[in-house]
Amino acid sequence: MDTSLRFPGKCCVCLADCDETIEVRGHKRETVGTSSQLTSLKCVVPVCQLCRSRFLNPRRVWKIAWLAAALIGGLLALSSGAFFVGACLGAIIGAAIAAAISAAYKEPAWFDKRTGDLLFANAGYQKEFDQINFPLLGDPSVERFFQTTRNAWASGLLSEINPGAQKAGQSAMDEVFRRQMKAEGSSLRMLLGKFRPLDGELLVGLLPWGTGVGNPWFILTNVRLIQRNGRTGEFVEVALADVATFNVGESALSIGMTSGETVSFDQTPIHPIEKALAWAISQAKSFGSSQQPIAPSMAPSTPSAPES
Ligand SMILES: [Zn+2]
Repeated sequence: MDTSLRFPGKCCVCLADCDETIEVRGHKRETVGTSSQLTSLKCVVPVCQLCRSRFLNPRRVWKIAWLAAALIGGLLALSSGAFFVGACLGAIIGAAIAAAISAAYKEPAWFDKRTGDLLFANAGYQKEFDQINFPLLGDPSVERFFQTTRNAWASGLLSEINPGAQKAGQSAMDEVFRRQMKAEGSSLRMLLGKFRPLDGELLVGLLPWGTGVGNPWFILTNVRLIQRNGRTGEFVEVALADVATFNVGESALSIGMTSGETVSFDQTPIHPIEKALAWAISQAKSFGSSQQPIAPSMAPSTPSAPES
């Protein structure tokens, strides 16, 4: 669990100033290979006294319901003389009351079982919480990067190097990006926290998705290749417009720059496939030479691409 989460100093239900808190518990189910593991999550969120009393404790609801059941059962038993029937009826009525109250009960905050995200019933609070904890999500250059990427992928611009790209761009790509930006230590979050995307820059590919802490990874855009050495944590950035030659080996990549310098990625065996790198370099060279940024709708290879 990300323990560095910060909370706006107000009740997450009614947004009134408050110092009181409640503990929220939950879990996240993750599938690693063929096994699935359960991670317990908990955190303390601000909820004011008044709202706390409004949110009933489900355990107390059941206690009240069974008490009601026993009472009704007892009364029926006394009036009809058939105690067993009365007790059964009482139990059924009690269970129905409890179910109705439980259905009406809504948590002020909870954990998404799939992603582990902390979610709030109040959308306004959620927005403020996201702004404080994930400021990059609202950053205009990051938003533009996602938008440009999605448009390019959906338009089929990347189909020759990645057959699945068009479908991915047309489906829930925004959701994937959002989740990546919330995941602590994800490669995308690390990248966009460190490197500002340019106008017209788009994601060509990255590996691996998800947590990049302690792992090597690369991110390839139509402008640059950035790799992170998993052992040292160092970032190496190559401007693709300045690449003269490159050589993709079994477990290494060396890039000859127009300046004569050679950049080697032999310490990080994860690197893009040759076809993708060649494509990105050709894009970068036209990106650099044109005054206009290459928005996918302006790319010469896709005249039919939709306007963004
Ligand atoms: Zn409140």
